[in-house]
Amino acid sequence: MSTTPHLYGSHSPVSRPTVRLLIQGEFVDSRSTELHPIVNPATQEVLAQVPMATPEEVDAAVAAARQAFVTWKATPLAVRMRIMLRFQALLREHLSRIAHVLTLEQGKTLADAEGDIVRGLEVVEHACSVGTLQLGELAENVANGVDTYTLRQPIGVCAGITPFNFPAMIPLWMFPMAIACGNTFVLKPSEQDPLVTMRLVELALEAGVPPGVLNVVHGGEHVVNALCDHPDVKAISFVGSTRVGTHVYERASLNGKRVQCMMGAKNHAIVVPDANKEQTLNALAGAAFGAAGQRCMALSVAVLVGEARKWVPDLVARAKKLSVGAGDSASTDVGPLISCAARERVEALIARGVEDGAQLELDGRIPSLPGALKEGNFVGPTIFSGVRPGMSVYEQEIFGPVLCIVEAETMDEAIAITNANPNGNGTAIFTQSGAAARKFEEEIEVGQVGINVPIPVPVPLFSFTGSRGSKLGDLGPYGKQVVLFYTQTKTVTARWFDDDTTAGPVNTTIRLH
Ligand code: NAD
Repeated sequence: MSTTPHLYGSHSPVSRPTVRLLIQGEFVDSRSTELHPIVNPATQEVLAQVPMATPEEVDAAVAAARQAFVTWKATPLAVRMRIMLRFQALLREHLSRIAHVLTLEQGKTLADAEGDIVRGLEVVEHACSVGTLQLGELAENVANGVDTYTLRQPIGVCAGITPFNFPAMIPLWMFPMAIACGNTFVLKPSEQDPLVTMRLVELALEAGVPPGVLNVVHGGEHVVNALCDHPDVKAISFVGSTRVGTHVYERASLNGKRVQCMMGAKNHAIVVPDANKEQTLNALAGAAFGAAGQRCMALSVAVLVGEARKWVPDLVARAKKLSVGAGDSASTDVGPLISCAARERVEALIARGVEDGAQLELDGRIPSLPGALKEGNFVGPTIFSGVRPGMSVYEQEIFGPVLCIVEAETMDEAIAITNANPNGNGTAIFTQSGAAARKFEEEIEVGQVGINVPIPVPVPLFSFTGSRGSKLGDLGPYGKQVVLFYTQTKTVTARWFDDDTTAGPVNTTIRLH
């Protein structure tokens, strides 16, 4: 692995690079003795190790952010926007180099790794127009000589806690918009794959983000809890599992912080028999098995309606053609799962599906792979038919390349099944009927809807609008919603007097009528 020297510290005790923290503009060694290995999931090669930051280091990062806020909040808009312009240019320039690091530590294919970075880059591009996004409103002469207007002011130190599955896109959902709005930031990347996140952070500094405005601490539960409890952290953005997100939401909210948590999913696709069969089968295979199913917007349930129930053999044939292997091989469609524990969990859930009576149409367990890849965390595409609510494979987020097929007689039944599931991240319909699509978008209770689009993640002109069990907090990442999340609206009611006004004492209440 090619390294950027200042991101890494001492090579003891086992001569592996140790990832540094970023505090007050300096990449520094952690004093922690608790180290977590960062492993190439295709081969088990240990790439580096990451320290679990100490409480003092978390405090130092927050203190640096708090101090930097004093000058950063007063830094002109144009300066903030220009830094984001430089940052997006640097990300584009280094795209393939960063994608390589991402594939090495996360496992996804190089094409998916580039997609991961580009989706985040689009948010940075959007942050370049923060001037327009952060504009307040003004109503002139709301009463005699009185104007009312709003200011959207930064709120202070914000923190971000990110998952392993999009180690570029999700940090980029968070810190660029928070910083562009005038806040300072403490980022806690996933301890499973922080290397690519550190490359992004390094480029942000190169783009001109001043010392203390962006800080990074590594760690797990203790560091997250310290951020949730810290009195100087004003807002927390979290993306990860429902279990941890619920904990973060409750703990940080009780401490009076703003919190937005994007969490787990079980995304249903409804297939109406009038859908274009070829396109639908390709879309289902790509969305269920791509990135080894480790996407919060992966399609993990296909609800086949009426005659579409006969498409199962064609879907199985399509899935069998996908090639399993290391992400850095051009022929790979499905890379490894992030860890041995993740592979064991997915394999156990597949076994549970069989016990529960679902029909295992395609079994991806223990695929045959050559050489060093024999050690990797691979599970190939897996398909169950005859899945029903109540079965473990249906109730749990598997987060692996496993597609559950549920059958429905009618579209009404398919919509009812989808709405009865507690998650609400994404959903899709495949149909050629405008009327069916319109009925679906009206009646489906899921925040992100695809019509012949399997993974309907909105571009940053809009916001990420997962809903129900997949989200806690009102405002989602990026787009207009995140500007509201990262700012406090202050409403000013102002009256100015001419010099020659000879009024008596100023009335403190303004008569609006
Ligand atoms: P995770 O919840 O295990 O970890 C997320 C973050 O929380 C990490 O930074 C981790 O260090 C920290 N963490 C882990 N355990 C903790 C604990 N006990 N207390 C406090 N913090 C803890 O999630 P993951 O496995 O990294 O990511 C996969 C999950 O993320 C899936 O459920 C997926 O659906 C979800 N996800 C959701 C979205 C979305 O937008 N809705 C996007 C991506 C991923």
